Amino acid sequence: MTLEQRIAQVNESIAEACKRAGRSPEEVNVVAVTKYVSAEMTGKVLDSGVEHIGENRWQTARPKWEALGDRGTWHFIGQLQSNKVKDIIGKFAYIHSLDRLSLARELERQAAAADIKIKAFVQVNISGEESKSGMLPEETFEFMRRMRDFPHIDAIGLMTMAPLDGEAEAARPVFRGLRELKDRLNASGEPAKPLEHLSMGMSGDFEVAIEEGATWVRLGSILVGKEED
Ligand SMILES: *Cc1c(COP(=O)(O)O)cnc(C)c1O
Repeated sequence: MTLEQRIAQVNESIAEACKRAGRSPEEVNVVAVTKYVSAEMTGKVLDSGVEHIGENRWQTARPKWEALGDRGTWHFIGQLQSNKVKDIIGKFAYIHSLDRLSLARELERQAAAADIKIKAFVQVNISGEESKSGMLPEETFEFMRRMRDFPHIDAIGLMTMAPLDGEAEAARPVFRGLRELKDRLNASGEPAKPLEHLSMGMSGDFEVAIEEGATWVRLGSILVGKEED
Protein backbone atom coordinates (compact mmCIF):
# COMPACT_ATOMS: atom_id res chain seq x y z
CA MET A 1 0.00 0.00 0.00
CA THR A 2 1.13 3.53 -0.67
CA LEU A 3 1.24 6.19 2.01
CA GLU A 4 -1.80 7.89 0.50
CA GLN A 5 -3.76 4.64 0.62
CA ARG A 6 -2.78 4.04 4.22
CA ILE A 7 -3.83 7.55 5.21
CA ALA A 8 -7.16 7.13 3.42
CA GLN A 9 -7.76 3.78 5.10
CA VAL A 10 -6.93 5.14 8.56
CA ASN A 11 -9.26 8.11 8.01
CA GLU A 12 -12.01 5.73 7.01
CA SER A 13 -11.47 3.57 10.09
CA ILE A 14 -11.56 6.67 12.27
CA ALA A 15 -14.80 7.81 10.65
CA GLU A 16 -16.38 4.39 11.20
CA ALA A 17 -15.29 4.21 14.83
CA CYS A 18 -16.68 7.71 15.40
CA LYS A 19 -19.96 6.70 13.80
CA ARG A 20 -20.26 3.67 16.09
CA ALA A 21 -19.62 5.90 19.09
CA GLY A 22 -21.78 8.83 17.96
CA ARG A 23 -18.78 11.12 17.82
CA SER A 24 -17.55 13.61 15.25
CA PRO A 25 -14.31 12.69 13.43
CA GLU A 26 -13.23 16.28 14.00
CA GLU A 27 -12.72 15.42 17.66
CA VAL A 28 -10.02 12.89 16.79
CA ASN A 29 -6.47 14.04 16.05
CA VAL A 30 -3.79 11.81 14.59
CA VAL A 31 -0.12 11.83 15.52
CA ALA A 32 1.90 10.07 12.82
CA VAL A 33 4.60 8.17 14.69
CA THR A 34 7.70 8.24 12.51
CA LYS A 35 10.12 6.42 14.82
CA TYR A 36 10.38 3.47 12.41
CA VAL A 37 11.08 5.54 9.29
CA SER A 38 13.68 7.86 7.77
CA ALA A 39 13.72 11.63 7.43
CA GLU A 40 12.87 11.18 3.76
CA MET A 41 9.72 9.22 4.58
CA THR A 42 8.83 11.68 7.35
CA GLY A 43 9.04 14.44 4.73
CA LYS A 44 6.59 12.53 2.54
CA VAL A 45 4.24 12.17 5.50
CA LEU A 46 4.30 15.95 5.94
CA ASP A 47 3.90 16.46 2.17
CA SER A 48 0.76 14.35 2.27
CA GLY A 49 -0.88 16.84 4.61
CA VAL A 50 -0.31 15.17 7.98
CA GLU A 51 0.35 17.88 10.58
CA HIS A 52 1.40 16.02 13.72
CA ILE A 53 4.63 14.03 13.96
CA GLY A 54 5.45 11.82 16.94
CA GLU A 55 8.82 10.47 18.07
CA ASN A 56 9.75 8.56 21.22
CA ARG A 57 13.49 9.24 21.47
CA TRP A 58 15.47 12.37 20.68
CA GLN A 59 18.24 10.25 19.18
CA THR A 60 15.96 8.87 16.46
CA ALA A 61 14.02 12.12 16.10
CA ARG A 62 17.05 14.32 15.66
CA PRO A 63 17.92 13.82 11.97
CA LYS A 64 14.25 14.23 11.09
CA TRP A 65 13.75 17.29 13.26
CA GLU A 66 16.93 18.89 11.91
CA ALA A 67 15.70 18.40 8.34
CA LEU A 68 12.01 19.12 8.87
CA GLY A 69 11.55 20.79 12.25
CA ASP A 70 10.21 23.99 10.69
CA ARG A 71 7.27 22.00 9.31
CA GLY A 72 4.44 20.32 11.18
CA THR A 73 3.91 20.06 14.92
CA TRP A 74 6.13 17.72 16.89
CA HIS A 75 5.06 15.46 19.73
CA PHE A 76 7.39 13.71 22.15
CA ILE A 77 5.72 10.43 23.07
CA GLY A 78 8.43 8.36 24.78
CA GLN A 79 9.90 8.10 28.24
CA LEU A 80 12.02 11.15 28.94
CA GLN A 81 14.95 11.43 31.32
CA SER A 82 15.12 14.81 33.00
CA ASN A 83 18.63 15.43 31.66
CA LYS A 84 17.25 15.09 28.10
CA VAL A 85 14.63 17.82 28.52
CA LYS A 86 17.08 20.38 27.17
CA ASP A 87 17.24 18.46 23.88
CA ILE A 88 13.53 18.61 23.20
CA ILE A 89 12.36 21.89 24.71
CA GLY A 90 11.28 24.42 22.10
CA LYS A 91 11.23 21.70 19.43
CA PHE A 92 8.32 19.55 20.56
CA ALA A 93 5.08 21.43 21.20
CA TYR A 94 3.57 18.47 23.05
CA ILE A 95 4.81 15.84 25.47
CA HIS A 96 2.61 12.77 25.92
CA SER A 97 4.72 11.14 28.63
CA LEU A 98 4.74 13.43 31.66
CA ASP A 99 4.95 10.72 34.31
CA ARG A 100 6.58 12.23 37.40
CA LEU A 101 7.11 15.41 39.37
CA SER A 102 10.86 15.60 38.80
CA LEU A 103 10.26 15.66 35.03
CA ALA A 104 7.60 18.36 35.44
CA ARG A 105 10.06 20.46 37.45
CA GLU A 106 12.70 20.23 34.76
CA LEU A 107 10.21 20.93 31.95
CA GLU A 108 8.98 23.98 33.84
CA ARG A 109 12.52 25.23 34.41
CA GLN A 110 13.56 24.84 30.78
CA ALA A 111 10.30 26.11 29.30
CA ALA A 112 10.41 29.18 31.55
CA ALA A 113 14.01 29.87 30.50
CA ALA A 114 13.01 29.59 26.83
CA ASP A 115 9.88 31.66 27.47
CA ILE A 116 7.60 29.06 25.91
CA LYS A 117 4.76 26.83 27.00
CA ILE A 118 4.65 23.09 26.42
CA LYS A 119 1.41 21.14 26.19
CA ALA A 120 1.44 18.00 28.28
CA PHE A 121 -0.45 14.78 28.72
CA VAL A 122 0.02 13.14 32.10
CA GLN A 123 0.83 9.49 31.50
CA VAL A 124 -1.15 7.07 33.61
CA ASN A 125 -0.63 3.37 34.20
CA ILE A 126 -4.25 2.29 34.11
CA SER A 127 -3.63 -1.42 33.71
CA GLY A 128 -1.35 -1.46 36.75
CA GLU A 129 1.16 -3.71 34.99
CA GLU A 130 4.54 -3.25 36.62
CA SER A 131 6.26 -3.04 33.24
CA LYS A 132 4.20 -0.03 32.21
CA SER A 133 5.31 3.51 32.79
CA GLY A 134 3.05 6.24 34.04
CA MET A 135 1.75 7.16 37.45
CA LEU A 136 -1.03 5.33 39.21
CA PRO A 137 -4.54 6.78 38.85
CA GLU A 138 -4.73 7.74 42.55
CA GLU A 139 -1.52 9.74 42.19
CA THR A 140 -2.87 12.01 39.45
CA PHE A 141 -5.04 14.10 41.80
CA GLU A 142 -2.14 15.38 43.90
CA PHE A 143 -0.04 15.67 40.74
CA MET A 144 -2.59 17.92 39.05
CA ARG A 145 -2.63 20.16 42.10
CA ARG A 146 1.18 20.39 42.03
CA MET A 147 1.05 21.27 38.33
CA ARG A 148 -0.55 24.59 39.26
CA ASP A 149 2.93 25.71 40.29
CA PHE A 150 4.20 25.12 36.74
CA PRO A 151 2.75 27.86 34.54
CA HIS A 152 4.86 26.92 31.52
CA ILE A 153 3.32 23.45 31.35
CA ASP A 154 -0.19 23.35 29.95
CA ALA A 155 -1.71 20.08 31.22
CA ILE A 156 -4.30 19.34 28.55
CA GLY A 157 -5.11 15.72 29.20
CA LEU A 158 -4.11 12.16 30.03
CA MET A 159 -2.24 9.50 28.10
CA THR A 160 -2.05 5.75 28.53
CA MET A 161 -0.60 2.71 26.81
CA ALA A 162 -2.74 -0.40 26.68
CA PRO A 163 -1.22 -3.86 27.04
CA LEU A 164 0.56 -4.41 23.74
CA ASP A 165 -0.12 -8.10 23.28
CA GLY A 166 -3.58 -9.43 22.90
CA GLU A 167 -6.76 -8.39 21.21
CA ALA A 168 -7.70 -4.74 20.72
CA GLU A 169 -10.87 -5.48 22.63
CA ALA A 170 -8.79 -6.37 25.71
CA ALA A 171 -7.61 -2.75 25.77
CA ARG A 172 -11.15 -1.39 26.13
CA PRO A 173 -11.26 -1.38 29.96
CA VAL A 174 -7.92 0.46 30.00
CA PHE A 175 -9.17 3.16 27.65
CA ARG A 176 -12.46 3.43 29.49
CA GLY A 177 -10.52 3.70 32.74
CA LEU A 178 -8.56 6.66 31.41
CA ARG A 179 -11.72 8.43 30.31
CA GLU A 180 -13.34 7.86 33.69
CA LEU A 181 -10.22 9.12 35.45
CA LYS A 182 -10.34 12.32 33.38
CA ASP A 183 -13.96 12.84 34.45
CA ARG A 184 -13.08 12.22 38.10
CA LEU A 185 -10.15 14.63 37.93
CA ASN A 186 -12.28 17.33 36.36
CA ALA A 187 -14.99 16.80 38.98
CA SER A 188 -12.35 17.06 41.73
CA GLY A 189 -11.30 20.55 40.64
CA GLU A 190 -7.61 19.69 41.10
CA PRO A 191 -6.50 20.53 37.54
CA ALA A 192 -5.98 24.27 36.97
CA LYS A 193 -8.41 24.00 34.07
CA PRO A 194 -10.53 21.07 32.93
CA LEU A 195 -8.61 18.35 31.11
CA GLU A 196 -9.90 18.07 27.56
CA HIS A 197 -7.84 15.40 25.90
CA LEU A 198 -7.17 11.67 25.95
CA SER A 199 -4.09 10.40 24.10
CA MET A 200 -4.78 6.71 23.68
CA GLY A 201 -4.79 4.14 20.91
CA MET A 202 -2.04 2.85 18.63
CA SER A 203 -2.07 0.87 15.37
CA GLY A 204 -3.52 -2.26 16.96
CA ASP A 205 -6.24 -0.70 19.07
CA PHE A 206 -7.03 2.86 17.93
CA GLU A 207 -10.58 2.07 16.85
CA VAL A 208 -11.46 0.80 20.33
CA ALA A 209 -9.70 3.84 21.82
CA ILE A 210 -11.83 6.17 19.68
CA GLU A 211 -15.00 4.35 20.73
CA GLU A 212 -13.91 5.02 24.32
CA GLY A 213 -13.24 8.71 23.79
CA ALA A 214 -9.70 9.18 22.44
CA THR A 215 -9.07 12.68 21.11
CA TRP A 216 -5.51 11.85 20.02
CA VAL A 217 -4.39 8.54 18.53
CA ARG A 218 -0.70 7.76 18.00
CA LEU A 219 -0.26 5.75 14.81
CA GLY A 220 3.03 4.31 13.59
CA SER A 221 3.06 1.07 11.62
CA ILE A 222 -0.49 1.26 10.25
CA LEU A 223 -0.08 4.83 8.99
CA VAL A 224 3.51 5.53 8.02
CA GLY A 225 4.61 1.90 7.86
CA LYS A 226 8.00 0.60 8.83
CA GLU A 227 11.08 1.29 6.75
CA GLU A 228 11.55 -2.33 5.66
CA ASP A 229 8.01 -2.35 4.13
C1 LIG B 1 5.73 3.48 18.82
C2 LIG B 1 4.68 4.14 19.59
C3 LIG B 1 3.39 4.32 19.06
C4 LIG B 1 2.98 3.82 17.70
O1 LIG B 1 3.04 2.43 17.61
P1 LIG B 1 2.30 1.63 16.45
O2 LIG B 1 1.82 0.39 17.14
O3 LIG B 1 3.31 1.36 15.42
O4 LIG B 1 1.18 2.45 15.97
C5 LIG B 1 2.46 4.98 19.85
N1 LIG B 1 2.76 5.44 21.07
C6 LIG B 1 3.98 5.29 21.61
C7 LIG B 1 4.24 5.84 22.97
C8 LIG B 1 4.98 4.64 20.89
O5 LIG B 1 6.20 4.50 21.44
